[in-house]
Amino acid sequence: MAHNAAELEQSIRSCHRCDLSKRGGKPTLRQIVQNVSLFVVGIAPTEGAERLGEPFTGGIGRKLCSWLVSLGLDPNDVYFTNAIKCSVRDSHGNFCFPLSGVNHPWVEECRSWLLEEISVIRPKILILLGVDSLYSLTGYDSISRYQREKQGEQFRGIPCFALNHPSSDIRISGWENSSPVQQAANQLRTLLRASS
Ligand code: SF4
Repeated sequence: MAHNAAELEQSIRSCHRCDLSKRGGKPTLRQIVQNVSLFVVGIAPTEGAERLGEPFTGGIGRKLCSWLVSLGLDPNDVYFTNAIKCSVRDSHGNFCFPLSGVNHPWVEECRSWLLEEISVIRPKILILLGVDSLYSLTGYDSISRYQREKQGEQFRGIPCFALNHPSSDIRISGWENSSPVQQAANQLRTLLRASS
């Protein structure tokens, strides 16, 4: 287990634990910095994100950043990562996204990295985007059920919110206007004000 941010980042970047690394994927992550306010978990890197070497660098990332700014957050105060660090490819090495199910072994293989990122970074709030990231940390396989039963409750001492992944919304411009996202935004504003 890594003891600090630099060691953890190096360990993840050199990981070959599962077969995604043999299919041409490589771990895609941002610089690990400690004590950010928000920790956002997606599913897996897109092809473009993998090419650029950082998750959430495309249109979804820009959409999320503008939503975070509307909450009063500096995007530099947010750590973006994925439940699966390497891009998902089929057995021929062809890129495929999104995933089709939450019980995929890659989610299991990569879970320990996610847990270590949380414990090293020590964020104030967790946001899980999409059912794969929700399942990875909580075992829940339904976003709506988690929202009804647990939304905002603590995971390892950190308030945790689950939201649909913006890419799953066909009318992507409407993601931030959906009722669960607006409710979460209100709770997040309150939490961020209380912790500042
Ligand atoms: S997906 Fe995760 S466990 Fe698999 S090789 Fe990449 S970093 Fe390692």
